[in-house]
Parts: sequence; structure tokens; C-alpha cells
Amino acid sequence: MPVLEARALVKTYLSRGAPVRALDGVDLAVERGEFVAIMGPSGCGKSTLLNLLAGFDRPSAGEVWLGGQRIDGLSEAKLARLRRRRIGFVFQFFNLLPALSVAENVELPLLLAGQRRRAARRGAIGLLNELGVADRRDAGPALLSGGQQQRVALARAMANSPDIVLADEPTGNLDSAAARGVLDLLGEARRRGQTLLMVTHDARAAAAADRVIRLRDGRIVADGRLEPARTVPDLLDLGGDQ
Ligand code: ADP
Repeated sequence: MPVLEARALVKTYLSRGAPVRALDGVDLAVERGEFVAIMGPSGCGKSTLLNLLAGFDRPSAGEVWLGGQRIDGLSEAKLARLRRRRIGFVFQFFNLLPALSVAENVELPLLLAGQRRRAARRGAIGLLNELGVADRRDAGPALLSGGQQQRVALARAMANSPDIVLADEPTGNLDSAAARGVLDLLGEARRRGQTLLMVTHDARAAAAADRVIRLRDGRIVADGRLEPARTVPDLLDLGGDQ
């Protein structure tokens, strides 16, 4: 059974009274342990798809299934609980809490899940260390560079070892060393059996995935499991990104 599934998913926004069809009938089944990259030009619906899969927003039509449960009709409270238990989300704009330190931001999901303060602190520092930002643990997020904030956001999303990690452009603002750190962390998560879905424009990041989905105008136009050696150039040839 897929761990995450979209069935005939449609999302229409109203933009100044005119409908914009951001997703136009997306069917997608993600198996447990898959690492999926979602690519495609700006505005093709990638963020919308991720938001619907995480239950942050509701589809105009179609269904979202998480671990065998249909979730698109659940109440906000149930969705929030489900996310806290099962999903880590890395937003494009980080969404770190400005009143908390870097370490506190990463600890928060652990405390909410019932861990003791000391264990939560240890877990947070361990992740920040892996991502090379532990030295900023006591700073406020606003004092960090974009790339550092991004890594803190990833640490926060991974803190609870959620079954499913959804990440919107997790390497978008990073130099190649920092991007490598992020991809290594995602790779380790996958080896531990976590399922990863990542929106990316970055061919290096996509090469770390084992399946690449291309969206265009709100539809899936390609969906391939990859043999890493020869598929990156193929992907680039499909082109048209950005
Ligand atoms: P991507 O992540 O691939 O860049 P998005 O999912 O952000 O694409 O957007 C898909 C389409 O939906 C775009 O045309 C975008 O302008 C539109 N859109 C996204 N969010 C909203 C919104 N809240 N209100 C109106 N239109 C939106």
C-alpha cells in the first residue's frame, strides 16, 4: 500500500476573481521508503501539490491518502495531529519561529511529542551538528543567512524522525558544500526507511532521488524511477526548467 497518494487531485485558486487551475488531475502513489523529486517550471503546481499532500490546504477535487487513511476531509485539529506524528515539512521560506533560538526551534517538535527537555536538546544539537550549524544554536533565526536558516528548518523537520518528509526546495539557497550536507542527511533518512518528497530545481538534488516526477501546467508529464548513472543528463534534456 502506498504511504502517500494523490488521486485525481485538482486545485483551483481564485486570483482576482479569475480561476487559476494550479493542479489539473494529479495521480501519484508514493511507496514507503521512496525518495521522490518533483521538478518542473515555476508556477507548474509543485508547491501546491506538496501543500495538499501535507494537508495544509484542501483540494478543489480529488483525494489525498496518507498510510491508508483519506485525509483531505479531516478537521484542522486532526490534520495538525497527524502532521505532528507523521510528517516533517521544510517550507520554502523556512517559517522558523523568530522569538525562539535556533536550538529551541529544532527542539520544539520533540517537546511537543513528549520528549524531556534534556533529550530534546541533545537531539536538536546532534542534528544541527550534522548540518554544520550547531555553532549558531543560541542565535535568533533572523541573524542567520538564508542557507543557515534553511538547514535549521530541515533539522526541525527531521527532529521527530517522521515517516514522511516533504521539502520545498531544500537546497535552493545553498552553496554546494551545504547542499551536499542536506542531501547526505536526506539520504540517511531514506536509508532509515523514511519516505521523502522534495520539490527541486536542482539537478544535483534530483540525482540523489530514486524517482523523478515532472509537472507541467498542473499535470504529471513524466514519472520515472531512475538508474542514477545515465538519467541525470536525460532529465536535463527534458529541460525547460525556470
Ligand atoms: P510552483 O511551486 O511550481 O512554482 P505553485 O504551486 O506555487 O507552483 O503555483 C501554481 C499556480 O497556482 C501558479 O499559477 C500560481 O500563480 C498559482 N497560485 C499558487 N498559490 C496561489 C494562491 N494562493 N492564490 C492564487 N493563485 C495561486
